[in-house]
Amino acid sequence: MNGYESKSMRVDIIVPCYNEEPNIEAFYESVQAVESRIAESGEYRNSYDFSYIFIDDGSTDGTLEQIKLVAERGAEDLTAVKYISFSRNFGKEAAICAGIRASAKGTRGGCPSDLAVLMDADLQHPPELICEMLRKMEATGCDTVAARRVSRKGEPKIRSAFARLFYKLMNKYCEIEIVDGAVDFRLMNHSIVKAIADMPETQRFSKGIFAWVGFDAEWVEFENVKRFSGETKWTVWSLTRYAIDGFIDFADSPLKFAGAFGSIVAVGSAIYLIIEIIKTLVMGKDTPGYASTICLILFFGGLIIAILGLIGEYIGRMYLETKGRPVYVEKESNIEE
Ligand code: UDP
Ligand code: MG
Repeated sequence: MNGYESKSMRVDIIVPCYNEEPNIEAFYESVQAVESRIAESGEYRNSYDFSYIFIDDGSTDGTLEQIKLVAERGAEDLTAVKYISFSRNFGKEAAICAGIRASAKGTRGGCPSDLAVLMDADLQHPPELICEMLRKMEATGCDTVAARRVSRKGEPKIRSAFARLFYKLMNKYCEIEIVDGAVDFRLMNHSIVKAIADMPETQRFSKGIFAWVGFDAEWVEFENVKRFSGETKWTVWSLTRYAIDGFIDFADSPLKFAGAFGSIVAVGSAIYLIIEIIKTLVMGKDTPGYASTICLILFFGGLIIAILGLIGEYIGRMYLETKGRPVYVEKESNIEE
């Protein structure tokens, strides 16, 4: 085989879960089926041994119980099923962070796994795509293979429109490039997992972090799939906040824009003032009315408050960052230190 030595690779499947009780078992079965198919197919250079890291993000339903049941089944299948349960809901970003840090440290004693796959628990990230990702990694020798959704079928039109606008702005004004349709479904080697795990920031925006760490990336594409069961956790408000947070996390251009705009306005008004003075003193003309003055005061008052609010967004983030609080608090886990 081209002198290539076949390796036995260990793969951590990292799964953030928030109220996914009806999906956990189906998820585990689907991914296990993919692992068996890979082992039987003979098309792969390496052999792959899957293990799981479920992160229960403070679920209020029976998600943790389901994960524990799956862990018992894993013991029978000789598959390591690990979990971390949070003390409350810390959000998907925190769950991703916990999973990646656990994988970087290693969950099975001894050395950490060679690869990690991050994916959703609701089967919206088709497990069969893992095969394509692994094959692509074998063929190209890249460091990460990420999934890109090529259709937004079944998603509300308004959500798609805002998502497109977000990617456009992000790519125009941030130093990093985020691919439209990129989802949090990717295969990564240990170097990437370690680089991300070592990032100390507490406000995390994974889509940006994946782009920021760099490395050689390849893409696989898939069509949008409906959730296996349950509802999405996103609301219009949380999605808007997520977009603003992501943008501010990776761009300082709004601050620069505010500074430039303020300077232009200041210079403009100075010129206007000089013209008015000349008109009054030299030509003896009256400066008319105070309506325009009030308009200007209100306009600039509003503008100043808006810009202060914008600066506040950044200061607020600095405030949270300097507190150095942990990204999440663990309540329970079956990973031995
Ligand atoms: N999720 C999480 N914490 C949260 C919200 C979501 O861990 O606070 C998980 C959820 O269980 C799922 C994934 O993140 O595995 C994606 O969530 P969802 O399906 O609600 O998002 P969508 O697919 O609509 O973008
Ligand atoms: Mg989903």
